[in-house]
Amino acid sequence: MSEIKVLSKEVSELIAAGEVIDRPCSVIKELVENSIDAGASVITVEIKNGGRTYIRVTDNGKGMAFEDMPVAFVRHATSKISRKQDLDSIMTLGFRGEALASICAVARVDVLTKRLEDDLGTHYAIEAAEQTAYEESGCPDGTTFIVRDIFFNVPARLKFLKKDVTEANAAADLVSKLSLSHPEISFKFIRDNRTELLTAGDGKLFSAVYAVFGREFAESMLEVDHTYQGMHITGFTVKPLCAKPNRRFQNFFVNHRYIRSRAMSSALEEAYRNQIMVGKFPACVLFADISAGAVDVNVHPTKTEVRFSNEKLMHEAVFFAVKNALLKFDAPNRMKLDSTRNFSERQLYSVAPADNGEQLRFSQPPTQKPLTPVRQPSEFKSSDKTAVPEPVSVGFKKLDTEQIERARNGEDVFLSDLEKVVVPEQDTKPVSFEDKTEPEPPAVQQSTLPEDSGYKFISAQSFEKKPEPVTIEYAPKESPRPIVVGELFKTFVVAQCGDEMILMDKHAAHERYIFEQIKEDANNLQPQILLDPITVLLSYAEYDVICENLEKIAKLGFEVEPDTAPTVAVKGVPIILGDNDPTEVLCELAKNLMDNKLNPQSEVFDDLYHSVACKAAIKANDSNSLAELQTLLDDVYENDDIRYCPHGRPVLIKLSKREIEKQFRRIV
Ligand code: ADP
Ligand code: MG
Repeated sequence: MSEIKVLSKEVSELIAAGEVIDRPCSVIKELVENSIDAGASVITVEIKNGGRTYIRVTDNGKGMAFEDMPVAFVRHATSKISRKQDLDSIMTLGFRGEALASICAVARVDVLTKRLEDDLGTHYAIEAAEQTAYEESGCPDGTTFIVRDIFFNVPARLKFLKKDVTEANAAADLVSKLSLSHPEISFKFIRDNRTELLTAGDGKLFSAVYAVFGREFAESMLEVDHTYQGMHITGFTVKPLCAKPNRRFQNFFVNHRYIRSRAMSSALEEAYRNQIMVGKFPACVLFADISAGAVDVNVHPTKTEVRFSNEKLMHEAVFFAVKNALLKFDAPNRMKLDSTRNFSERQLYSVAPADNGEQLRFSQPPTQKPLTPVRQPSEFKSSDKTAVPEPVSVGFKKLDTEQIERARNGEDVFLSDLEKVVVPEQDTKPVSFEDKTEPEPPAVQQSTLPEDSGYKFISAQSFEKKPEPVTIEYAPKESPRPIVVGELFKTFVVAQCGDEMILMDKHAAHERYIFEQIKEDANNLQPQILLDPITVLLSYAEYDVICENLEKIAKLGFEVEPDTAPTVAVKGVPIILGDNDPTEVLCELAKNLMDNKLNPQSEVFDDLYHSVACKAAIKANDSNSLAELQTLLDDVYENDDIRYCPHGRPVLIKLSKREIEKQFRRIV
């Protein structure tokens, strides 16, 4: 007797439905995507009991014709594609013609639909793939789907549903993503009779971000708009200081379709590397507009994962777009003063006793020591050179290999080896509190990263044989030079720059400065030859990528020779690695190379650089001359790479003259 039988239609429908519909959320996704494809400008999603008992999706799209209704629920029935070639240029969200067939196989479905040109609409009902109503009916233009009792006929699946609140949260999250992907559509989400989300549908992404994540999030964003080799990347990315504790706030869209993408996420994170606190992750709402042929959306039934024809290009496009946004818009943080804590004018000026019966009094200094003579304001003239304490400027010398080695061993090398470079006096600029006459660099809108520009993109230059043409836009600063005024608590440098006061954390600034220098040198590290080569066992994928990139790896100070696959012999290691086992670093390098990281130097290296920089940098409570601090500020201020210490703490903060005047009630 034959054992192999063709499954009945009912069973095969249920199996197929399981691929597309596994929870209420997937029903919502399919229905909303259909509404978007139907050209709707207003979409309402309503759920009850986490969508388990009731889901309604209403749109004002083009509607369906009476005679099309039964066909729409047949598997592989679609109006969106017809020929094989159409698969290569899909611009609609749906195309498989499977959603309605899958939904009606596992739930009770009611549809009300009407096209603008028809007088009467249609009511169609279908339950476990059996039609239960098909009639003409009065209804508004557009389509309403009501899906009740999902999985009523598949109890096994019903058991796997999570708690109602979890299912409802997943639905809310989904509607948020959909509304971000289509700011031109007004979305409403109603959970158990309560409206939770309403987006403006005004076409502005910022409005949608504001509606979905709230004001604080929206205001922590920087705009991204960059085209890289035909890929247009737009949207928002977070200011490094407002980074999030997890990756949940990374939203990627390709051709207006929400997707999860390791390639895009790793590019985003690479752009923030060393600018963000440990344990924090960048947040973003980023859109990639690419040609339909460059992406395959047909790799996953729910289409949340896609394949790019060129992953490396995608990585670069996102990386440069985000890096540019950070360079252009991430200005040093402004200090916020709390105006609510100030005395009101009435409190300050009234002589009447305050409520508690006490009168405001100015406190007296406890002892009557004579005050140090105060300089008259007239002494602060633009020609006043006494504002600069010494007629020298002090250069911070680069660390040499031996110093790096000593710093790694915890020795305090930097201060003792600090080299004072005496510059002839005529070279020092006259410095004063009124000095605003610094010549401005010529205006350049875009540059190909000139050597002496404020921003050097070390990694791209050193790893690509030929640096990519114009990948980083650079807008020179127009602000005057900052002048050090003094130091607070032997920790914070106080400086004035035009109409702004700057506070700089001297340790953080110096640490970052050294870190950048070591990194720059480290792109051409000499290997330290090992007496006995170390054999490292890799995975086959790691082995392949290491063997393909031996030259790049040699630049990082590794002398590696392929051995019997998948092992390699490590004959030399970069000096900075010291006695650390090269296995971990090599594996991480391999992983980064596989992820198309522009700078595959592994995070292990960064950690080593951090610790050298941290040990070598000047510390809080160190005594430094104003000239030293001025040099450090000069080096740091114009360098866009130095905004955060390697651990992501800010290096500079600013406070405007206007804000200070407001605090003193000079202006209101
Ligand atoms: P697909 O979206 O892959 O084409 P579906 O099963 O989701 O397949 O839908 C089948 C067809 O039903 C669609 O191609 C479309 O013509 C029609 N349709 C579904 N929902 C709507 C809607 N909200 N408005 C207009 N037409 C719709
Ligand atoms: Mg569809």
